[in-house]
Amino acid sequence: MSEQESKKRYGKVYLVGAGPGHPGLITVRGKELLGRAEVVVYDYLASPKLLKYVPEGAELIYAGKKGGVKHTHTQEEINQMLVDRAVAGKTVVRLKGGDPFIFGRGGEEVEVLANNGIEFEVVPGVTSATAAATYAGIPITHRDYTASVAFLTGHEDPTKPGSKIDWEKLATGAGTLVVYMGIKNLPIIVKNLVTNGRDPKTPVAVVRWASTPEQRSVVGTLETIADIVREADIKPPALIIVGEVVNLRKTIDWFEKRPLFGKRIVVTRTREQTSELMAGLEENGANCLEYSTIKIEPIDSYEILDDELDRLEEYHWILFTSLHGVKYFFERLYARGMDARDMKGPSVAAVGKATADLIMEYGVRADLLPDVFTGEGLAESLLDQGVEGRNILIPRAEEGRRILPEMLRGAGAQVTVVPVYKNVAPEGKREQLRNELESGNVDMVTFTSSSTVRNFLSMVGAESSSELKRLMHEVTIAAIGPITAKTVTDNGLTVDIQPETYTIADLIHEIVKQSSK
Ligand code: SAH
Repeated sequence: MSEQESKKRYGKVYLVGAGPGHPGLITVRGKELLGRAEVVVYDYLASPKLLKYVPEGAELIYAGKKGGVKHTHTQEEINQMLVDRAVAGKTVVRLKGGDPFIFGRGGEEVEVLANNGIEFEVVPGVTSATAAATYAGIPITHRDYTASVAFLTGHEDPTKPGSKIDWEKLATGAGTLVVYMGIKNLPIIVKNLVTNGRDPKTPVAVVRWASTPEQRSVVGTLETIADIVREADIKPPALIIVGEVVNLRKTIDWFEKRPLFGKRIVVTRTREQTSELMAGLEENGANCLEYSTIKIEPIDSYEILDDELDRLEEYHWILFTSLHGVKYFFERLYARGMDARDMKGPSVAAVGKATADLIMEYGVRADLLPDVFTGEGLAESLLDQGVEGRNILIPRAEEGRRILPEMLRGAGAQVTVVPVYKNVAPEGKREQLRNELESGNVDMVTFTSSSTVRNFLSMVGAESSSELKRLMHEVTIAAIGPITAKTVTDNGLTVDIQPETYTIADLIHEIVKQSSK
Protein backbone atom coordinates (compact mmCIF):
# COMPACT_ATOMS: atom_id res chain seq x y z
CA MET A 1 0.00 0.00 0.00
CA SER A 2 1.40 3.39 -0.86
CA GLU A 3 1.75 5.98 1.85
CA GLN A 4 -0.96 7.99 0.17
CA GLU A 5 -3.44 5.10 0.38
CA SER A 6 -2.78 4.28 4.00
CA LYS A 7 -3.16 7.94 4.89
CA LYS A 8 -6.54 8.05 3.23
CA ARG A 9 -7.98 5.62 5.69
CA TYR A 10 -7.16 7.87 8.58
CA GLY A 11 -9.94 9.92 10.02
CA LYS A 12 -9.85 13.68 10.21
CA VAL A 13 -9.59 15.96 13.23
CA TYR A 14 -11.55 19.19 13.42
CA LEU A 15 -10.44 21.75 15.95
CA VAL A 16 -13.64 23.64 16.62
CA GLY A 17 -14.05 26.83 18.59
CA ALA A 18 -17.05 26.41 20.88
CA GLY A 19 -17.38 30.12 21.58
CA PRO A 20 -17.34 31.71 25.01
CA GLY A 21 -20.05 29.75 26.77
CA HIS A 22 -23.44 30.70 25.36
CA PRO A 23 -24.34 27.66 23.23
CA GLY A 24 -25.70 29.94 20.50
CA LEU A 25 -22.27 31.40 19.90
CA ILE A 26 -20.75 28.44 18.08
CA THR A 27 -20.32 28.86 14.32
CA VAL A 28 -22.64 27.18 11.82
CA ARG A 29 -19.64 25.18 10.59
CA GLY A 30 -18.79 24.08 14.12
CA LYS A 31 -22.32 22.88 14.77
CA GLU A 32 -22.41 21.02 11.48
CA LEU A 33 -19.19 19.19 12.36
CA LEU A 34 -20.49 18.24 15.81
CA GLY A 35 -23.44 16.72 13.97
CA ARG A 36 -21.21 14.21 12.27
CA ALA A 37 -18.58 13.60 14.90
CA GLU A 38 -17.71 10.06 15.93
CA VAL A 39 -15.50 11.27 18.74
CA VAL A 40 -15.73 14.58 20.60
CA VAL A 41 -12.96 15.69 22.93
CA TYR A 42 -14.21 18.74 24.82
CA ASP A 43 -12.91 21.22 27.38
CA TYR A 44 -14.55 22.55 30.49
CA LEU A 45 -14.91 25.98 28.92
CA ALA A 46 -16.92 24.59 26.00
CA SER A 47 -20.63 24.67 26.78
CA PRO A 48 -21.83 21.12 27.55
CA LYS A 49 -25.12 22.17 25.95
CA LEU A 50 -23.38 21.88 22.59
CA LEU A 51 -23.09 18.12 23.06
CA LYS A 52 -26.73 17.79 22.12
CA TYR A 53 -25.70 18.20 18.48
CA VAL A 54 -23.47 15.14 18.68
CA PRO A 55 -24.98 11.95 17.23
CA GLU A 56 -25.98 9.29 19.70
CA GLY A 57 -23.31 6.66 20.15
CA ALA A 58 -20.41 9.02 19.52
CA GLU A 59 -17.57 8.78 22.00
CA LEU A 60 -17.51 11.80 24.33
CA ILE A 61 -14.25 12.52 26.08
CA TYR A 62 -13.96 15.24 28.70
CA ALA A 63 -10.48 16.66 28.41
CA GLY A 64 -10.74 18.46 31.70
CA LYS A 65 -9.97 21.73 33.22
CA LYS A 66 -6.84 23.42 32.09
CA GLY A 67 -5.06 25.55 34.63
CA GLY A 68 -7.23 24.03 37.32
CA VAL A 69 -5.96 22.11 40.29
CA LYS A 70 -6.82 18.82 38.69
CA HIS A 71 -5.98 18.21 35.09
CA THR A 72 -8.18 15.41 33.87
CA HIS A 73 -5.82 14.73 30.98
CA THR A 74 -2.41 16.16 30.27
CA GLN A 75 -1.86 18.00 27.00
CA GLU A 76 0.27 15.08 25.79
CA GLU A 77 -2.55 12.64 26.54
CA ILE A 78 -5.01 14.81 24.65
CA ASN A 79 -2.68 15.04 21.66
CA GLN A 80 -2.25 11.27 21.69
CA MET A 81 -6.00 10.70 21.95
CA LEU A 82 -6.59 12.83 18.87
CA VAL A 83 -3.90 11.00 16.92
CA ASP A 84 -5.09 7.54 18.02
CA ARG A 85 -8.73 8.18 17.16
CA ALA A 86 -7.81 9.64 13.77
CA VAL A 87 -5.50 6.73 13.00
CA ALA A 88 -8.44 4.45 13.84
CA GLY A 89 -10.31 6.18 11.04
CA LYS A 90 -12.63 8.29 13.19
CA THR A 91 -14.04 11.73 12.54
CA VAL A 92 -12.88 13.62 15.59
CA VAL A 93 -14.06 17.00 16.83
CA ARG A 94 -11.79 18.68 19.30
CA LEU A 95 -14.14 21.22 20.88
CA LYS A 96 -12.33 24.05 22.57
CA GLY A 97 -13.57 27.05 24.53
CA GLY A 98 -13.61 30.36 22.65
CA ASP A 99 -11.26 30.29 19.67
CA PRO A 100 -8.87 27.33 19.37
CA PHE A 101 -5.95 29.51 18.37
CA ILE A 102 -6.25 32.09 21.13
CA PHE A 103 -4.60 30.87 24.33
CA GLY A 104 -6.10 27.48 23.71
CA ARG A 105 -3.02 25.42 22.83
CA GLY A 106 -4.75 24.70 19.54
CA GLY A 107 -1.50 25.41 17.76
CA GLU A 108 0.26 22.65 19.65
CA GLU A 109 -2.51 20.18 18.94
CA VAL A 110 -2.49 20.72 15.19
CA GLU A 111 1.31 20.62 15.10
CA VAL A 112 1.12 17.11 16.51
CA LEU A 113 -1.54 16.16 13.95
CA ALA A 114 0.50 17.60 11.11
CA ASN A 115 3.61 15.75 12.30
CA ASN A 116 1.64 12.50 12.36
CA GLY A 117 0.30 13.00 8.88
CA ILE A 118 -3.27 13.45 10.04
CA GLU A 119 -5.63 15.68 8.15
CA PHE A 120 -7.20 18.50 10.11
CA GLU A 121 -9.33 21.59 9.85
CA VAL A 122 -9.54 24.48 12.29
CA VAL A 123 -12.84 26.28 12.82
CA PRO A 124 -12.44 29.61 14.60
CA GLY A 125 -14.71 30.61 17.43
CA VAL A 126 -15.89 33.72 19.22
CA THR A 127 -13.11 34.30 21.68
CA SER A 128 -14.00 35.07 25.27
CA ALA A 129 -12.28 38.47 25.19
CA THR A 130 -14.65 39.95 22.66
CA ALA A 131 -17.60 38.08 24.11
CA ALA A 132 -16.88 39.23 27.66
CA ALA A 133 -16.58 42.81 26.49
CA THR A 134 -19.77 42.59 24.46
CA TYR A 135 -21.78 40.89 27.18
CA ALA A 136 -20.50 43.33 29.80
CA GLY A 137 -21.57 46.26 27.63
CA ILE A 138 -18.05 47.33 26.73
CA PRO A 139 -17.20 48.01 23.07
CA ILE A 140 -13.66 46.74 22.89
CA THR A 141 -12.72 49.59 20.56
CA HIS A 142 -14.42 52.95 20.16
CA ARG A 143 -13.43 55.86 17.97
CA ASP A 144 -13.47 58.28 20.88
CA TYR A 145 -11.33 56.19 23.20
CA THR A 146 -9.04 53.69 21.56
CA ALA A 147 -7.81 52.47 18.24
CA SER A 148 -5.93 49.42 19.45
CA VAL A 149 -6.49 46.30 21.52
CA ALA A 150 -4.04 43.78 22.88
CA PHE A 151 -4.87 40.29 24.12
CA LEU A 152 -2.46 38.88 26.66
CA THR A 153 -2.19 36.04 29.09
CA GLY A 154 -1.95 36.69 32.80
CA HIS A 155 -1.09 33.11 33.47
CA GLU A 156 2.64 33.45 33.51
CA ASP A 157 4.23 34.91 36.57
CA PRO A 158 4.81 38.54 35.58
CA THR A 159 7.67 38.85 38.08
CA LYS A 160 9.70 36.01 36.71
CA PRO A 161 12.69 36.95 34.62
CA GLY A 162 12.35 36.29 30.93
CA SER A 163 8.58 36.87 30.90
CA LYS A 164 7.31 36.80 27.33
CA ILE A 165 5.18 39.84 28.04
CA ASP A 166 6.87 43.16 27.58
CA TRP A 167 4.94 45.07 30.26
CA GLU A 168 6.89 48.23 29.64
CA LYS A 169 5.68 48.46 26.07
CA LEU A 170 2.24 47.02 26.68
CA ALA A 171 1.27 49.16 29.65
CA THR A 172 0.75 52.19 27.46
CA GLY A 173 1.16 50.60 24.04
CA ALA A 174 -2.45 49.60 23.44
CA GLY A 175 -5.62 51.50 24.29
CA THR A 176 -7.53 48.46 25.46
CA LEU A 177 -5.92 45.46 27.12
CA VAL A 178 -7.70 42.18 27.62
CA VAL A 179 -6.06 39.71 29.94
CA TYR A 180 -6.91 36.01 29.82
CA MET A 181 -6.19 33.74 32.79
CA GLY A 182 -5.21 36.68 34.96
CA ILE A 183 -7.30 36.41 38.10
CA LYS A 184 -4.69 34.74 40.26
CA ASN A 185 -2.03 37.24 39.24
CA LEU A 186 -4.31 40.28 39.13
CA PRO A 187 -2.51 42.22 41.90
CA ILE A 188 0.83 41.81 40.11
CA ILE A 189 -0.64 42.58 36.70
CA VAL A 190 -2.15 45.90 37.78
CA LYS A 191 1.04 46.81 39.60
CA ASN A 192 3.05 46.09 36.44
CA LEU A 193 0.79 48.28 34.37
CA VAL A 194 0.94 51.18 36.80
CA THR A 195 4.71 51.01 37.36
CA ASN A 196 5.15 51.02 33.63
CA GLY A 197 3.21 54.21 33.18
CA ARG A 198 -0.48 53.37 32.87
CA ASP A 199 -2.69 55.84 34.74
CA PRO A 200 -3.83 54.22 38.02
CA LYS A 201 -7.28 55.73 37.43
CA THR A 202 -7.73 53.71 34.23
CA PRO A 203 -11.04 51.86 34.46
CA VAL A 204 -10.96 48.06 34.64
CA ALA A 205 -13.71 45.46 34.36
CA VAL A 206 -13.47 41.84 35.37
CA VAL A 207 -16.02 39.54 33.77
CA ARG A 208 -16.58 35.96 34.88
CA TRP A 209 -18.37 33.26 32.85
CA ALA A 210 -19.14 35.78 30.15
CA SER A 211 -22.22 35.18 27.97
CA THR A 212 -23.65 32.53 30.31
CA PRO A 213 -26.45 32.99 32.82
CA GLU A 214 -23.78 32.86 35.52
CA GLN A 215 -22.02 35.93 34.19
CA ARG A 216 -20.76 38.31 36.84
CA SER A 217 -18.88 41.55 36.34
CA VAL A 218 -17.23 44.03 38.61
CA VAL A 219 -15.74 47.38 37.69
CA GLY A 220 -12.99 49.45 39.29
CA THR A 221 -9.72 51.10 38.36
CA LEU A 222 -6.18 49.80 38.21
CA GLU A 223 -5.83 51.01 41.79
CA THR A 224 -8.94 49.39 43.19
CA ILE A 225 -9.78 46.36 41.06
CA ALA A 226 -7.59 43.82 42.88
CA ASP A 227 -9.37 44.52 46.18
CA ILE A 228 -12.78 44.56 44.52
CA VAL A 229 -12.20 41.18 42.91
CA ARG A 230 -10.92 39.71 46.15
CA GLU A 231 -13.90 41.02 48.10
CA ALA A 232 -16.39 39.88 45.47
CA ASP A 233 -14.62 36.50 45.48
CA ILE A 234 -14.44 36.34 41.71
CA LYS A 235 -12.77 33.12 40.62
CA PRO A 236 -11.62 31.98 37.17
CA PRO A 237 -12.67 31.77 34.43
CA ALA A 238 -12.68 35.51 34.11
CA LEU A 239 -11.21 38.18 31.89
CA ILE A 240 -9.72 41.50 32.78
CA ILE A 241 -10.54 44.42 30.49
CA VAL A 242 -8.41 47.53 30.95
CA GLY A 243 -9.05 50.85 29.21
CA GLU A 244 -11.26 53.90 28.92
CA VAL A 245 -13.86 51.90 26.96
CA VAL A 246 -14.87 50.25 30.25
CA ASN A 247 -16.66 53.49 31.16
CA LEU A 248 -19.16 52.90 28.37
CA ARG A 249 -20.62 50.02 30.33
CA LYS A 250 -22.62 52.55 32.33
CA THR A 251 -24.64 53.29 29.22
CA ILE A 252 -24.39 50.11 27.23
CA ASP A 253 -24.72 47.29 29.79
CA TRP A 254 -27.54 45.22 28.36
CA PHE A 255 -27.04 41.59 29.24
CA GLU A 256 -26.98 41.77 33.00
CA LYS A 257 -29.78 44.36 32.97
CA ARG A 258 -32.39 42.04 31.48
CA PRO A 259 -35.34 41.59 33.85
CA LEU A 260 -34.80 37.91 34.64
CA PHE A 261 -31.01 38.01 34.62
CA GLY A 262 -29.48 35.58 37.09
CA LYS A 263 -32.86 34.09 37.99
CA ARG A 264 -32.84 30.32 38.10
CA ILE A 265 -36.14 29.05 36.80
CA VAL A 266 -37.23 25.43 36.71
CA VAL A 267 -39.15 24.46 33.60
CA THR A 268 -40.77 21.06 33.69
CA ARG A 269 -40.59 19.65 30.26
CA THR A 270 -43.62 18.36 28.44
CA ARG A 271 -43.76 17.55 24.81
CA GLU A 272 -45.72 20.69 23.97
CA GLN A 273 -44.52 24.23 24.30
CA THR A 274 -41.50 23.84 26.55
CA SER A 275 -39.07 25.29 24.08
CA GLU A 276 -41.20 28.38 23.51
CA LEU A 277 -41.34 28.98 27.25
CA MET A 278 -37.63 28.41 27.73
CA ALA A 279 -36.69 30.58 24.79
CA GLY A 280 -38.87 33.42 26.09
CA LEU A 281 -37.51 33.23 29.61
CA GLU A 282 -33.91 32.96 28.42
CA GLU A 283 -34.41 35.91 26.12
CA ASN A 284 -35.14 37.90 29.24
CA GLY A 285 -32.03 36.64 30.94
CA ALA A 286 -33.28 33.69 32.95
CA ASN A 287 -31.19 30.64 33.63
CA CYS A 288 -33.63 27.85 32.83
CA LEU A 289 -33.20 24.53 34.55
CA GLU A 290 -34.96 22.03 32.39
CA TYR A 291 -36.37 18.85 33.85
CA SER A 292 -37.80 16.31 31.48
CA THR A 293 -40.78 14.16 32.04
CA ILE A 294 -40.47 11.16 34.26
CA LYS A 295 -40.98 7.82 32.58
CA ILE A 296 -43.16 5.21 34.19
CA GLU A 297 -41.80 1.69 33.98
CA PRO A 298 -42.72 -1.73 35.31
CA ILE A 299 -40.64 -2.86 38.28
CA ASP A 300 -38.03 -5.59 37.88
CA SER A 301 -39.88 -8.29 39.78
CA TYR A 302 -43.57 -8.82 40.56
CA GLU A 303 -42.92 -11.55 43.15
CA ILE A 304 -44.12 -9.46 46.07
CA LEU A 305 -47.30 -8.40 44.31
CA ASP A 306 -47.96 -12.00 43.25
CA ASP A 307 -47.79 -13.12 46.90
CA GLU A 308 -50.27 -10.44 47.89
CA LEU A 309 -52.59 -11.27 45.01
CA ASP A 310 -52.65 -14.85 46.33
CA ARG A 311 -53.99 -13.65 49.65
CA LEU A 312 -56.22 -10.79 48.55
CA GLU A 313 -59.16 -12.04 50.60
CA GLU A 314 -57.15 -11.38 53.78
CA TYR A 315 -57.25 -7.65 53.12
CA HIS A 316 -59.95 -5.30 54.35
CA TRP A 317 -58.88 -2.45 52.10
CA ILE A 318 -56.96 -1.87 48.91
CA LEU A 319 -55.92 1.74 48.39
CA PHE A 320 -55.09 3.17 45.00
CA THR A 321 -53.14 6.40 45.08
CA SER A 322 -52.36 6.83 41.39
CA LEU A 323 -53.57 5.93 37.92
CA HIS A 324 -50.40 3.98 37.25
CA GLY A 325 -50.89 2.03 40.47
CA VAL A 326 -54.32 0.95 39.22
CA LYS A 327 -53.06 0.06 35.78
CA TYR A 328 -50.08 -2.04 36.85
CA PHE A 329 -52.00 -3.75 39.65
CA PHE A 330 -54.87 -4.87 37.45
CA GLU A 331 -52.66 -5.80 34.53
CA ARG A 332 -50.76 -8.18 36.77
CA LEU A 333 -53.98 -9.51 38.25
CA TYR A 334 -55.32 -10.29 34.78
CA ALA A 335 -51.97 -11.64 33.59
CA ARG A 336 -52.14 -14.20 36.36
CA GLY A 337 -55.50 -15.46 35.15
CA MET A 338 -57.46 -13.61 37.85
CA ASP A 339 -60.18 -11.00 37.29
CA ALA A 340 -62.57 -8.58 38.99
CA ARG A 341 -64.26 -11.41 40.88
CA ASP A 342 -61.07 -11.91 42.88
CA MET A 343 -61.51 -8.37 44.20
CA LYS A 344 -64.77 -9.10 45.99
CA GLY A 345 -63.25 -9.46 49.46
CA PRO A 346 -61.53 -6.17 50.22
CA SER A 347 -63.10 -2.72 50.00
CA VAL A 348 -61.44 -0.39 47.52
CA ALA A 349 -60.48 3.24 48.03
CA ALA A 350 -59.20 5.67 45.40
CA VAL A 351 -57.29 8.88 46.00
CA GLY A 352 -59.35 10.84 43.48
CA LYS A 353 -62.06 10.79 40.88
CA ALA A 354 -59.83 9.88 37.92
CA THR A 355 -58.34 6.98 39.83
CA ALA A 356 -61.79 5.74 40.78
CA ASP A 357 -62.91 5.96 37.14
CA LEU A 358 -59.97 3.88 36.01
CA ILE A 359 -60.65 1.24 38.67
CA MET A 360 -64.19 1.09 37.32
CA GLU A 361 -62.83 0.37 33.88
CA TYR A 362 -61.31 -2.78 35.32
CA GLY A 363 -64.76 -3.76 36.60
CA VAL A 364 -64.47 -2.68 40.22
CA ARG A 365 -66.33 0.14 41.92
CA ALA A 366 -64.41 2.23 44.46
CA ASP A 367 -66.09 2.14 47.88
CA LEU A 368 -64.41 5.25 49.17
CA LEU A 369 -63.31 8.60 47.74
CA PRO A 370 -61.79 11.14 50.14
CA ASP A 371 -63.07 14.72 50.48
CA VAL A 372 -59.63 16.05 49.64
CA PHE A 373 -57.89 14.24 46.81
CA THR A 374 -54.46 13.75 48.36
CA GLY A 375 -52.70 10.99 50.24
CA GLU A 376 -53.43 12.74 53.52
CA GLY A 377 -57.05 13.27 52.49
CA LEU A 378 -57.38 9.58 51.80
CA ALA A 379 -55.78 8.66 55.12
CA GLU A 380 -58.14 10.98 56.99
CA SER A 381 -61.25 9.58 55.32
CA LEU A 382 -60.13 6.07 56.24
CA LEU A 383 -59.34 7.08 59.79
CA ASP A 384 -62.91 8.36 60.08
CA GLN A 385 -64.08 4.86 59.25
CA GLY A 386 -61.75 3.33 61.85
CA VAL A 387 -58.78 1.30 60.67
CA GLU A 388 -57.56 -0.33 63.84
CA GLY A 389 -56.58 -3.95 63.21
CA ARG A 390 -57.51 -3.65 59.53
CA ASN A 391 -55.29 -5.15 56.85
CA ILE A 392 -54.59 -2.58 54.18
CA LEU A 393 -52.82 -3.09 50.86
CA ILE A 394 -51.35 -0.15 48.93
CA PRO A 395 -50.13 -1.00 45.42
CA ARG A 396 -48.13 1.96 44.18
CA ALA A 397 -44.83 3.39 42.94
CA GLU A 398 -41.59 2.01 44.28
CA GLU A 399 -40.67 5.44 45.59
CA GLY A 400 -43.99 6.65 47.01
CA ARG A 401 -44.49 9.04 49.91
CA ARG A 402 -44.41 7.64 53.44
CA ILE A 403 -47.14 9.81 54.89
CA LEU A 404 -50.17 7.67 53.96
CA PRO A 405 -48.90 4.35 55.37
CA GLU A 406 -47.54 6.13 58.43
CA MET A 407 -50.86 7.80 59.25
CA LEU A 408 -52.67 4.50 58.89
CA ARG A 409 -50.14 2.53 60.93
CA GLY A 410 -50.32 5.24 63.57
CA ALA A 411 -54.02 4.48 63.85
CA GLY A 412 -53.37 0.78 64.35
CA ALA A 413 -53.76 -0.61 60.82
CA GLN A 414 -51.59 -3.36 59.32
CA VAL A 415 -50.30 -1.75 56.16
CA THR A 416 -48.58 -3.54 53.30
CA VAL A 417 -47.07 -1.30 50.65
CA VAL A 418 -46.36 -3.16 47.45
CA PRO A 419 -44.46 -1.61 44.55
CA VAL A 420 -46.15 -2.14 41.19
CA TYR A 421 -44.33 0.38 39.01
CA LYS A 422 -41.49 2.86 39.18
CA ASN A 423 -40.87 6.45 38.21
CA VAL A 424 -37.71 6.72 36.20
CA ALA A 425 -36.26 10.19 36.15
CA PRO A 426 -33.50 10.91 33.66
CA GLU A 427 -30.18 9.86 35.11
CA GLY A 428 -29.23 11.88 38.16
CA LYS A 429 -31.87 14.53 37.50
CA ARG A 430 -34.08 13.77 40.46
CA GLU A 431 -31.22 14.16 42.90
CA GLN A 432 -30.03 17.26 41.12
CA LEU A 433 -33.44 18.91 41.45
CA ARG A 434 -33.60 17.99 45.13
CA ASN A 435 -30.15 19.45 45.72
CA GLU A 436 -30.99 22.64 43.87
CA LEU A 437 -34.09 23.12 46.01
CA GLU A 438 -32.34 22.16 49.26
CA SER A 439 -29.56 24.65 48.65
CA GLY A 440 -31.94 27.47 47.74
CA ASN A 441 -30.72 27.67 44.15
CA VAL A 442 -34.14 27.87 42.56
CA ASP A 443 -35.89 31.21 42.26
CA MET A 444 -38.96 30.13 40.37
CA VAL A 445 -40.83 27.10 39.07
CA THR A 446 -43.13 27.36 36.07
CA PHE A 447 -46.09 25.12 35.41
CA THR A 448 -47.81 24.98 32.04
CA SER A 449 -50.24 22.17 32.80
CA SER A 450 -51.43 20.05 35.69
CA SER A 451 -49.23 17.24 34.50
CA THR A 452 -46.15 19.44 34.79
CA VAL A 453 -47.17 20.05 38.42
CA ARG A 454 -47.54 16.34 39.11
CA ASN A 455 -44.34 15.60 37.31
CA PHE A 456 -42.44 18.16 39.30
CA LEU A 457 -43.89 16.89 42.56
CA SER A 458 -42.99 13.32 41.86
CA MET A 459 -39.49 14.40 40.87
CA VAL A 460 -39.14 16.27 44.14
CA GLY A 461 -40.54 13.27 45.99
CA ALA A 462 -41.22 15.13 49.22
CA GLU A 463 -42.21 12.88 52.10
CA SER A 464 -44.97 15.14 53.36
CA SER A 465 -46.64 18.39 52.51
CA SER A 466 -44.67 20.12 55.23
CA GLU A 467 -41.43 18.95 53.65
CA LEU A 468 -42.66 20.14 50.28
CA LYS A 469 -43.56 23.51 51.75
CA ARG A 470 -40.15 23.80 53.33
CA LEU A 471 -38.40 23.02 50.03
CA MET A 472 -40.59 25.47 48.12
CA HIS A 473 -40.59 28.16 50.79
CA GLU A 474 -38.53 30.73 48.86
CA VAL A 475 -39.56 29.60 45.40
CA THR A 476 -41.93 31.70 43.30
CA ILE A 477 -44.53 29.60 41.52
CA ALA A 478 -45.89 30.64 38.14
CA ALA A 479 -48.87 28.80 36.68
CA ILE A 480 -50.33 29.28 33.23
CA GLY A 481 -54.00 29.16 34.15
CA PRO A 482 -56.63 28.30 36.76
CA ILE A 483 -56.64 24.52 36.30
CA THR A 484 -52.90 24.28 36.62
CA ALA A 485 -53.07 26.69 39.54
CA LYS A 486 -55.66 24.51 41.22
CA THR A 487 -53.39 21.48 40.94
CA VAL A 488 -50.73 23.57 42.63
CA THR A 489 -52.98 24.65 45.49
CA ASP A 490 -54.46 21.16 45.86
CA ASN A 491 -50.94 20.12 46.72
CA GLY A 492 -50.67 22.71 49.44
CA LEU A 493 -48.56 25.25 47.55
CA THR A 494 -49.34 28.84 46.62
CA VAL A 495 -49.37 30.31 43.12
CA ASP A 496 -47.60 33.67 42.93
CA ILE A 497 -47.82 34.45 39.24
CA GLN A 498 -50.69 33.71 36.91
CA PRO A 499 -51.48 35.53 33.66
CA GLU A 500 -54.98 36.68 32.81
CA THR A 501 -54.97 34.79 29.54
CA TYR A 502 -53.64 31.29 29.41
CA THR A 503 -50.91 31.41 26.80
CA ILE A 504 -47.17 30.86 27.03
CA ALA A 505 -46.55 34.40 25.76
CA ASP A 506 -48.76 35.86 28.48
CA LEU A 507 -47.12 33.69 31.11
CA ILE A 508 -43.69 34.98 30.08
CA HIS A 509 -45.00 38.54 30.01
CA GLU A 510 -46.47 38.21 33.49
CA ILE A 511 -43.29 36.65 34.89
CA VAL A 512 -41.23 39.51 33.47
CA LYS A 513 -43.71 42.08 34.79
CA GLN A 514 -43.79 40.65 38.30
CA SER A 515 -40.02 40.24 38.40
CA SER A 516 -39.37 43.83 37.33
CA LYS A 517 -41.39 45.23 40.19
N1 SAH B 1 -9.41 29.80 23.72
C1 SAH B 1 -10.13 30.50 24.74
C2 SAH B 1 -9.27 30.93 25.89
C3 SAH B 1 -8.75 29.80 26.71
S1 SAH B 1 -7.72 30.34 28.01
C4 SAH B 1 -10.82 31.70 24.11
O1 SAH B 1 -10.59 32.00 22.94
O2 SAH B 1 -11.61 32.34 24.78
C5 SAH B 1 -8.80 30.28 29.38
C6 SAH B 1 -9.15 31.66 29.83
O3 SAH B 1 -10.09 32.23 28.94
C7 SAH B 1 -9.84 31.72 31.17
O4 SAH B 1 -8.91 31.66 32.23
C8 SAH B 1 -10.51 33.06 31.10
O5 SAH B 1 -9.60 34.09 31.31
C9 SAH B 1 -10.92 33.11 29.65
N2 SAH B 1 -12.32 32.68 29.44
C10 SAH B 1 -12.75 31.68 28.66
N3 SAH B 1 -14.09 31.63 28.65
C11 SAH B 1 -14.50 32.64 29.43
C12 SAH B 1 -15.77 33.14 29.81
N4 SAH B 1 -16.90 32.59 29.39
N5 SAH B 1 -15.82 34.22 30.62
C13 SAH B 1 -14.70 34.82 31.06
N6 SAH B 1 -13.49 34.38 30.74
C14 SAH B 1 -13.38 33.32 29.94
